[in-house]
Amino acid sequence: MVSLMKDNTRVNHPPAVHLAADNRPLVAPIYQSVKFSLDSVNETVRLLRHEREGFFYSRSSNPTLRQLELLLAELQGREDCLLTGSGVAAIAACLLSLCKQGDHVLLFVESYGPTRYLVQNIMARYGVTHTLLSIEDLTGIDQVLREVPTRLIVFESPTNPVTKIADIEHLLAAARHAGALTIMDNTFAGFHNHGQYPIDIFLHSLTKYASGHGDVMGGAIIASADLIGSMRKDINTLGPTLDPHAAFLIQRGMRTYFLRYERQCANALAVSRFLSASTRVKRIFYPGLEDHPQHLLARHQMRDFGTVVSFEMESGHESAGRFCEALKYFSITASVGSTESLVMPPQLLGGHEFDATQRRASCLGPGTIRLSIGLEDPEDLIDDLRQALEVAY
Ligand SMILES: *Cc1c(COP(=O)(O)O)cnc(C)c1O
Repeated sequence: MVSLMKDNTRVNHPPAVHLAADNRPLVAPIYQSVKFSLDSVNETVRLLRHEREGFFYSRSSNPTLRQLELLLAELQGREDCLLTGSGVAAIAACLLSLCKQGDHVLLFVESYGPTRYLVQNIMARYGVTHTLLSIEDLTGIDQVLREVPTRLIVFESPTNPVTKIADIEHLLAAARHAGALTIMDNTFAGFHNHGQYPIDIFLHSLTKYASGHGDVMGGAIIASADLIGSMRKDINTLGPTLDPHAAFLIQRGMRTYFLRYERQCANALAVSRFLSASTRVKRIFYPGLEDHPQHLLARHQMRDFGTVVSFEMESGHESAGRFCEALKYFSITASVGSTESLVMPPQLLGGHEFDATQRRASCLGPGTIRLSIGLEDPEDLIDDLRQALEVAY
């Protein structure tokens, strides 16, 4: 058919490609479109009233995002999921949506730094109070929950960087008694862990194991349909949307999630066995090692032990810095869960705001080093660590 449109009109109304219903792409396409339209005003009104299925504006939802949300909810064993543009966006949007002035939040010294900053600095400005304890202080946790009406308990396991294991059953029992919601940042353990516990909300940074390749950022909030539904409008209004192209890349990363995670765990165990046998290493933290103080708890709660290995060098700062610079296959940078191995020296591990008690609980010492184990050959990684330990001393 010959088009009657003039060129300026035509370029804005290109011919549509129709895919027959029995002719599907094997990889879900990227819906790189902000807007979706329906032919009828009435149907559009029904859509906006949630009386029918469909998409309207990508800040609220988009088919590419929805596909990833359905996958992540299923892997984590919950009904629904809401994606955000980064992991911290998921944490901030979730906590802001669930709290009001006067609410109290229990969180932990071993929590991710920006989570503590959010609660202690930003939410404090809006009248939300908090208590900061060590995740190991079970007596303190019970006491606070007995004495202070508490809206949220926000925790992680294994913790960063020294891989402490939260006693989830204890936390959940105390939370249930106190009527508090439990929020677990499950980034380190992954979507295949901890779903068997009745934790109310899981948070993930998709920047880590989901994307897996260190080239895209994202976050996820995973919970019951009711809880996600109660937060959806708030979070849509806060606007931490994930871009469809990023969602597509994360979805692609997820295809190899288990292969990567399993291999990285196996490499982490090999590396931690080597380090624990080294005389240069004062203390090693990896929950997969039988002499980790919470190895049995980790074995009870998790299907594997994660890909982060931390250790304390015999001597402090300076040799730790030399060690990190001597490594060939570990890059000095933030983050975990990439295909390549990464290292964080004590100078970059943070915790500067802690008082003496909190510092002890954090287990951060002058020679603490965090390794994020990648997909390299484990023998190469071990050879690299061996030569860097030699250089450091
Ligand atoms: C990285 C990380 C985050 C934040 O994720 P971003 O995607 O970097 O915003 C949150 N929690 C944990 C445990 C993390 O490791």
